[in-house]
Amino acid sequence: MRDKTLLAPYDLLLARHGPQHWWPGETAFEVMVGAVLTQNTAWANVEKAIANLRRADALGCAAILGLGDGELAEQLRPAGYFNVKARRLKSLCGFLAARGVTEAPEELADQGGLAELRHDLLAVHGIGEETADSILLYALDLPSFVVDAYTRRIFARLGLLRGSETYADIQRLIEANLPRDRRLYNEYHALIVRLGKEQCRPRPRCADCPLNPICPTAP
Ligand code: SF4
Repeated sequence: MRDKTLLAPYDLLLARHGPQHWWPGETAFEVMVGAVLTQNTAWANVEKAIANLRRADALGCAAILGLGDGELAEQLRPAGYFNVKARRLKSLCGFLAARGVTEAPEELADQGGLAELRHDLLAVHGIGEETADSILLYALDLPSFVVDAYTRRIFARLGLLRGSETYADIQRLIEANLPRDRRLYNEYHALIVRLGKEQCRPRPRCADCPLNPICPTAP
């Protein structure tokens, strides 16, 4: 891959859809909570769980740590896997508390380099690579490209992946072939998600796809 190869889809997507204004969250903490809750569920369900926390005046690190496990799980019920997600959210809040950033979790970004922070986030119970990168990019404004199932499917159909690459392989390939720019990473991932939902679905709608002119899979 070369810069030109990866910027071409981005330019076409941006020309069609414009900026996506991600991540939909009012604070860094809300973005972190959303990144944990969105695992294996649609965003609409995450919004309901976040609204529950807000209504219960519990959309904060200390408040979540102060809730009983069952009480927290009940608030998270709309997001699915609520017992698991309650444990994960408490682990994340415990991590933020241990780092002394419960009031301003965005200050985590000042506590180390990106690689070190990513390593530390991955050590938190229930935080995998996609969640860690979502937190780094969208809550902490650090340039860590988020790879998800849409990224894998779309780049494979564009002929840029073989399909057997690991998360780390794909992230390395993408980051090595794009300018290191958090705004670009932010917008590109958001546009990929939109394409994956609207056109590049399991059964692709190529006729209406902005990437049709450059896609080898298009009929
Ligand atoms: S042209 Fe078709 S296969 Fe290619 S990216 Fe668009 S929807 Fe996916």
